[in-house]
Formats: sequence, structure tokens, C-alpha cells
Amino acid sequence: MTQTTGQVVVISGPSGSGKTSIIDQLRKHPRVRVSVSVTTRPPRQDEVDGKDYRFVDHDTFLKMVEEKAFVETNDVFGNGYLYGSTWQDVDDSLRDPEAVYIMEVDVVGASNLRATGLGLLYIFIEPPSIDDLAHRLQNRGTEDEQQVAQRLARAQEEMNQARLEGAHIVVNEDVDQAVEQIKKLLGLEENASLEG
Ligand code: 5GP
Repeated sequence: MTQTTGQVVVISGPSGSGKTSIIDQLRKHPRVRVSVSVTTRPPRQDEVDGKDYRFVDHDTFLKMVEEKAFVETNDVFGNGYLYGSTWQDVDDSLRDPEAVYIMEVDVVGASNLRATGLGLLYIFIEPPSIDDLAHRLQNRGTEDEQQVAQRLARAQEEMNQARLEGAHIVVNEDVDQAVEQIKKLLGLEENASLEG
């Protein structure tokens, strides 16, 4: 089993649960680093290559799989778009003992990370309800009706699995409160960071 030095936190949660807003708050903390996954999904209008994801074509992704660049990969929505976290990212984080390193993956990715035997912490962000999630996805307007239905079905599965696997569940009723709850869990409260 690999010994971890830096703290690695796996944050998962349904698409539209607000985990991106939560992670955007957390990344402002000086000790927090956020992994950049690789994906074959096309970028959305406001997404930046190298910050939100590394956007690559399908062949490049498969070549990276062959080269064993990934610690885990998944076709998250079963629609052919692949997502993966790289060993390079994990290794870099484990070398920095001060870092709290956040990996954002789906629940399958979290299960695959568990299977590596790395000592990671698992947090699952839950929407207050499936209805609330449906509204958030519809308001976001980045997916069509079929994609929203696909994401809702997937969300229900993910919520069941996260509970079964004993992840720390954070219900996102309010982003600021969810961020505070996670900071407490990770020892990142304001006075904790001043002491360091
Ligand atoms: P999107 O960015 O397309 O809205 O959502 C992507 C979904 O894939 C999210 O649930 C996110 O957590 C998940 N995801 C992002 N990067 C990775 C990754 O590297 N591995 C896995 N397994 N899931 C990922």
C-alpha cells in the first residue's frame, strides 16, 4: 500500500449538485490544490483548457490509457465522453505534505480510487433533493432535456452508492455552509491556516 503524505480528498457528487461552486470556494485556500482531469467532452463556452479540464480528442485519451497515465477513467454518462485523473497529478500532490489536494470525480471514479489502496478521504456532495437537482440542471441550461434526464437517473444511483460506501455526506442547501463544513472536516478553518 502506498503511504500518503499530502492529504488527498476525493469529492464526488451528482452533476448539478453545486460541487463546482463549492470547489471554486475551497480552491481560494492557500493549502488547497485542485486536480485537472482529462476529458474528451467538448469544452463549454466559459471553460478554460488546463484549468477546468485538459480537453483532448478520443485517440489522445486512448493513447494515454495505453501509456498507463491514468489512475482511473470512466465514461461518466455512458455517452462516449471519457474522463480520467492522471497519476502525475496524484504523485505531485503526495509529494507536498502541506497540500490538501482535491480530486473531483464521479462515484465510479471514487470506487476505483478506493481500490488503489491509497489512503484518501471521500466526500460526497448531495443536492437537497432530486427535484432541486432537476431545477438546477434546467436553470443551468447547458444540457438538453435528454441529457438532464440521463444526469438525474445517474444522480440517484450515485447518491445510493455513496451512502453504501460510507463517504462523508455534505448536503448542499447553501454553498457557504457546505464549504465551511468541508473546511472543518479538512482542518482548513481560518485559524487552522494561520497557525500553519
Ligand atoms: P461535467 O463536467 O461534464 O458537467 O461533469 C462531469 C462529471 O464527471 C462530474 O460528475 C465529475 O465529477 C465527473 N468527473 C470529472 N472528472 C473526472 C475524472 O477524472 N474521473 C471521473 N471518474 N469522473 C470525473
